[in-house]
Amino acid sequence: MGQFSGRRIFEIDVIRQAGQLLMDKKYKNKCTLYSTVEPCPMCAGALILADIARSVWALSDDYLGAVRIMKAGNHFRHKFDKICVTAMPYKDLAIWSQKLHRLWGERRGVKYRVSDVSENTWAD
Ligand SMILES: [Zn+2]
Repeated sequence: MGQFSGRRIFEIDVIRQAGQLLMDKKYKNKCTLYSTVEPCPMCAGALILADIARSVWALSDDYLGAVRIMKAGNHFRHKFDKICVTAMPYKDLAIWSQKLHRLWGERRGVKYRVSDVSENTWAD
């Protein structure tokens, strides 16, 4: 992997590391990417360009998350219609991810807003 300045982005790193495997017939349009938070606009684009079949994230991101918005919108329909999305499948992971993102933001002095989840979010 080359030298990059600035921050590293998990989804982009994973796709880069998977590299040619994602183009192999055995894996193309069959891979799932799991992340702690909903992918941002740049990563959502990378997911569709890499033909990732499914995106699963622990915590939806109402501020920077883009996959839900892009799937609902009218751009690259032929690509975004193909991505299967599983948002916040586990309550405990969502709550932990939220705590970590809030702590991360607090320590950096940044107000970073992810989805506001609580024990009641999954109540019927
Ligand atoms: Zn991203």
